[in-house]
Amino acid sequence: MTRPLLFATTNPGKLRELRALAGGLSVISLEDFPGIADVVEDEETLEGNARKKALAYARTTGVTALADDSGLCVDALGGRPGVHSARYAPGDDAARWQKLLQEMKDVPEGERTASFQCALCLATPEGDVTSEVGRCEGRVLHAARGTGGFGYDPVLWVTQLGRAMAELTLEEKALVSHRGQAFARMRARLLDYQEGRWP
Ligand code: IMP
Repeated sequence: MTRPLLFATTNPGKLRELRALAGGLSVISLEDFPGIADVVEDEETLEGNARKKALAYARTTGVTALADDSGLCVDALGGRPGVHSARYAPGDDAARWQKLLQEMKDVPEGERTASFQCALCLATPEGDVTSEVGRCEGRVLHAARGTGGFGYDPVLWVTQLGRAMAELTLEEKALVSHRGQAFARMRARLLDYQEGRWP
């Protein structure tokens, strides 16, 4: 029998992408646990937060959980907003990328390099954990482009494809994104877990 797997995120953008990446895997989400308490993301690294969320949601639900912590790391800002991407500015996603464009307005083209980074952690209710990371290189644009994706997608130019992340389809984003890279590395272990070979 296939063992249950929880995609433990409250972010609808991440959930949509993880479900698309999941292909043949059978998954449930936090929508199946109404009223479940949020996990405070107070670690200093993406890996630390992903691990904290995966362990907490696995223990609370009793179901092995995959958690994602991710962010945009801008070289000219010393890696900010990074692990603090979700809390970089109050309000919605647009308020956050507008603040980023403002902070970057005098930074010349050659110094606008940045990367989306993602840590995925899979944890069992008993405390077994395994993690993977992924990153996607790009440049901070001068103005927003595209309407797809979520978060900072309209302001990151993806070097590999020569388009803004928000100009990609869900399938294109899955191929190049930080989340897609981390998931590709994790996929075999998710299958192993569902079929009883991990942990
Ligand atoms: P957290 O992982 O819940 O701390 O939130 C990560 C934040 O980073 C999100 O709220 C987004 O603002 C941003 N982020 C993470 N992944 C992406 C992505 O794929 N595209 C755009 N922004 C992202």
